[in-house]
Amino acid sequence: MFAFKASAQQGTHMFRAKILSKCAFRRKMSSRLVLGIETSCDETGAAVMDETGLILGESLHSQKEVHLKTGGIIPTVAQRLHRENIGRIVQEAMERSGVTQSQLSAVATTVKPGLALSLGIGLDFSLNFVKLHQKPFIPIHHMEAHALTVRMLQPVVFPFLVLLVSGGHSLLALARGIDDFLLLGQTLDEAPGDTMDKVARRLSLIKHPKCSMISGGQAIEILARDGNRLKFLFKPPMGAHYDCNFSFAGLRNQVTMSIQKKEEEEGVEQGTLLSCVNDIAAATQHAVASHIAKRTHRAILFCKAKDLLPSCNPTLVVSGGVASNQYIRKILKIVTDTTGLHLLCPPSKFCTDNGVMIAWNGVERLREGKGILSHTEEVNYEPK
Ligand code: AMP
Ligand code: ZN
Repeated sequence: MFAFKASAQQGTHMFRAKILSKCAFRRKMSSRLVLGIETSCDETGAAVMDETGLILGESLHSQKEVHLKTGGIIPTVAQRLHRENIGRIVQEAMERSGVTQSQLSAVATTVKPGLALSLGIGLDFSLNFVKLHQKPFIPIHHMEAHALTVRMLQPVVFPFLVLLVSGGHSLLALARGIDDFLLLGQTLDEAPGDTMDKVARRLSLIKHPKCSMISGGQAIEILARDGNRLKFLFKPPMGAHYDCNFSFAGLRNQVTMSIQKKEEEEGVEQGTLLSCVNDIAAATQHAVASHIAKRTHRAILFCKAKDLLPSCNPTLVVSGGVASNQYIRKILKIVTDTTGLHLLCPPSKFCTDNGVMIAWNGVERLREGKGILSHTEEVNYEPK
């Protein structure tokens, strides 16, 4: 994908349009350039970016289809697929950017958190690359990269509140600087995307004609549109916990018990598509959304009470795969409207894992001169 196409995809009027004009081309050659590499979970991503945040070239290989068929991520399979694809993905991103290895100013790579076997492939590749081409290395924290991606698209000043909801994480944090995050809450068990993926698997949504090739979360969102959430009432998690943590495992248990009950009532085996899948999807989505919204509301009230957010344009940034859910976005909009915050959700393409967000985090660090290593002997990945 060439730079001007990537810019057009960023799309909405909310975001800065960046067009690769002659002027931008000259700028590209004079500005510092970063190669970003991501392999923390099930996406192999790479991108080349200039210092202004212009995407010069990118490439992404998703393993989602493979993992969908096996009913979840098998780490050794993820590792093999990263190994098979990383060379090609980095080469594609470099070729599309028109940048040579010698023109790069640094290589930025996710080193934490993630699946050990997946992180290892990206890190090994990157360390060989920086050794061969004599480049500085910037280790990247995957969650920090998600949190800061929005700043690539428009100016958002620190501090701001961040909600990250994905297949592997849910957390609320106050972003105070590129390497300064105050953690306000996180999941005590599983992440909301994981919960929805597991519910979708339990409902065998892969057999549903509308859902065979999409993630569990997406399937739930699509089916929920034609469902009545009031047909199933799930108790919201952590009602008596006055903090900003999340918990989704108990909710999943409630959903599983309702599914079992329905199977018995309808006299069907586990694995059969139930007639009420739309209603279960709608009720599950609503329960997940309202739990996320309540914890976010509490985090906003906490930040306000402690005067942690600026009085001018206080902002909530939402990212991660689950943030592409329109129902969840709508509920969060109600929360931010009633508390006077500005809600920013990057386009879906930038909410999910990719090399661009890693390159951008590398650019932010390069600009501030933070975490740039010229020696990599001590560098290791950290799954947790
Ligand atoms: P990530 O972990 O950021 O790569 O995002 C993947 C996770 O997001 C998976 O668990 C998906 O089920 C979930 N997801 C993707 N799209 C949606 C959606 N529209 N609604 C809810 N969850 C989603
Ligand atoms: Zn992620």
